Amino acid sequence: MSIAINQKTCVGCKKCLSVCPGTLIKLNQEGKAFIKYPKDCWGCSSCIKECQAKAIDFYLGADIGGRGSRMQVEMKADQVIWKITETDGTIHVIEINPKASNQY
Ligand code: SF4
Ligand code: SF4
Repeated sequence: MSIAINQKTCVGCKKCLSVCPGTLIKLNQEGKAFIKYPKDCWGCSSCIKECQAKAIDFYLGADIGGRGSRMQVEMKADQVIWKITETDGTIHVIEINPKASNQY
């Protein structure tokens, strides 16, 4: 699993650079963050949690059976909201109740 950084919403604060345990994120010449070594990303989500601009998404690539879509995760009350945006712009929203998901 890797991440994708939205260059339009990145404000260049460098917080993601400082929390990435693999030092995988760099700033480009325009002062925007990009992931330099996407294959080395193990999806720990530290950078995603740290980004106040919400410029970082999970990238659902072929390595995990994805097709290049991007996923954002939000917490709302007791719900976890997964918002998946496919490459053609189609959006899927999945709501999960973490308490109920552990019941069987
Ligand atoms: S934390 Fe977000 S806004 Fe700040 S540099 Fe990284 S991607 Fe850009
Ligand atoms: S998900 Fe973790 S390993 Fe991957 S770029 Fe972000 S902080 Fe680094």
